Amino acid sequence: MVGVHRGSCHCGGVRFTVRSDPVERTTCDCSLCVKRNAVMVKVPEAALSIDAGEDLLATYQWNSRRAQHHFCRHCGIYVFHRKRAAPDHFGVNLFCLDEFDGEALPLRATEGVGMTLVCDDPRAEWPGPRVAGD
Ligand SMILES: [Zn+2]
Repeated sequence: MVGVHRGSCHCGGVRFTVRSDPVERTTCDCSLCVKRNAVMVKVPEAALSIDAGEDLLATYQWNSRRAQHHFCRHCGIYVFHRKRAAPDHFGVNLFCLDEFDGEALPLRATEGVGMTLVCDDPRAEWPGPRVAGD
């Protein structure tokens, strides 16, 4: 049976439900995730529904502008984002999942720095993790 996990921002204006069971937690070393100290779980888009406060969601985009980072415009808390490398998935702020104990999930560090390129000729797709010596 798939778990049902309720989530919310700090002020409670944004409320959402995740209907999937995350298998891991991820961190990311891109400049945005470092500053928001994000620990995330990956959720298929069909498994996330917004229950309240959709009008409170603001969206931040930067760099390739492909990922959409949603936060509550009232309390400022990052709740989830549509992923750049897997646009049919959301990265959900683990700490916004109410009463969800993620401590038992493995923690994987993803490399965001390698995909944060803005230049005249941006890569169309993320080529994957860099290989040492490349
Ligand atoms: Zn809020």
